Amino acid sequence: MKSTVHDIWDREHLWHPYTSTLDPLPTYKVERAAGTDIILADGTRLIDGMTSWWCEIHGYNNPRINAAAKAQIDKMSHVMFGGFTHEPAIQLGKLLLDAAPPSMHNIFYADSGSVAVEVAMKMAVQAAISASGSHDKTNFATIRSGYHGDTWNAMSVCDPVTGMHGAFGPALPVRYFVPQPRSRFDGEWDTADIAPVEKLFKEHAAEIAAFILEPIVQGAGGMWFYHPQYLRELRRLCDRYGILLIFDEIATGFWRTGRKFAWEWAGVEPDIMCVGKGLTAGYLTMSAVLTTRDVADTISRGEAGVLMHGPTFMANPLACAIAVESLKMLNEQDMATRVAHIEAKLKTGLTPARELPGVADVRVIGSIGVIEVERPVDVGEFQKRCVEAGVWIRPFGRNVYIMPAYIISDDDLDTLTSAMVRLVKELPGHAD
Ligand SMILES: *Cc1c(COP(=O)(O)O)cnc(C)c1O
Repeated sequence: MKSTVHDIWDREHLWHPYTSTLDPLPTYKVERAAGTDIILADGTRLIDGMTSWWCEIHGYNNPRINAAAKAQIDKMSHVMFGGFTHEPAIQLGKLLLDAAPPSMHNIFYADSGSVAVEVAMKMAVQAAISASGSHDKTNFATIRSGYHGDTWNAMSVCDPVTGMHGAFGPALPVRYFVPQPRSRFDGEWDTADIAPVEKLFKEHAAEIAAFILEPIVQGAGGMWFYHPQYLRELRRLCDRYGILLIFDEIATGFWRTGRKFAWEWAGVEPDIMCVGKGLTAGYLTMSAVLTTRDVADTISRGEAGVLMHGPTFMANPLACAIAVESLKMLNEQDMATRVAHIEAKLKTGLTPARELPGVADVRVIGSIGVIEVERPVDVGEFQKRCVEAGVWIRPFGRNVYIMPAYIISDDDLDTLTSAMVRLVKELPGHAD
């Protein structure tokens, strides 16, 4: 281990995500990053396949976004949103409403994806109590294998097995789970997929405020892409049983699946929608919750008369200014064509993995490419090999996947996909 890239003090004192303090996974010290390159402290160049967990959609250190951030810093980095408003918040709101499903009308700015999910769930509970006059209609339903964040209520709707339920036991609220839809995104629709939802709603609609799920792509819960018909059927059932529908578009938003938002694949709109991750192009933490005028006004007519949430850093002007610039950049490009190009290259590049022993599935949608293997991958060992190969890929569970920045060059994308295929081939037990 070179101490310039593996910091001893960091290993001793700094918690990294999902890492043991007894036997921490290795971390690599980053000196700087630009475009799709990450440069380590010892000068090693890595081609980035992760966009820092779905965020860095225009690449690192983007000159236009840097300029927008600097201009805003010289005016103000922050000002409270209680009693004040500002141009970056207004501009961002207009751009978001232009991009969002037509029925979206009110926007709540929050701090992170997880907090957006908390806010969306609070909206649903307040709206349901206000509309029904009953405090019984306050629970949630979701599909298995979802991921919605790490805060308390977000955790409660993450997959109960692969999520964090085991570690927290009875401390977590108990939600209703239905099976994950098994009809593939690009396959045949099987009506059996929706039957459990109808059964659940028949029995428990009086207790359920909202159904929450990630539309089309389940991200950190298993990188699964399901059939758009599921969302159409779910919308129909939610309407019939008086249950709000929440789309968590935190990972899928801003063209990641080849559409501006994933709901477009199904053409059905949610009542509440969360966006985050790519919103600020990976510069700062920020999210937004959008909802219909009906939900917003129903909350306002309720007992409290207001939505009971108001974060200190709400609508942070610096984050808003960055998001505005990022959204403008997306609007100026033909993103559908751009992402279709990345998708085609991912499909070609990852196809050879289909033939490999130990590979369970290969799937691609938009700029997301996944090789699912049969056994869990040793993350530390895999990442060591990635760094040796000059690429940055962080697998989880049985999924080795990338979601590169939209600016990635064809050559770098080829390097990433061929490294993925080779490293999967070299996994223990995968040799011919
Ligand atoms: C990442 C993610 C979250 C949580 O966002 P954070 O910013 O990490 O709190 C919520 N939902 C989905 C679908 C995500 O991918």
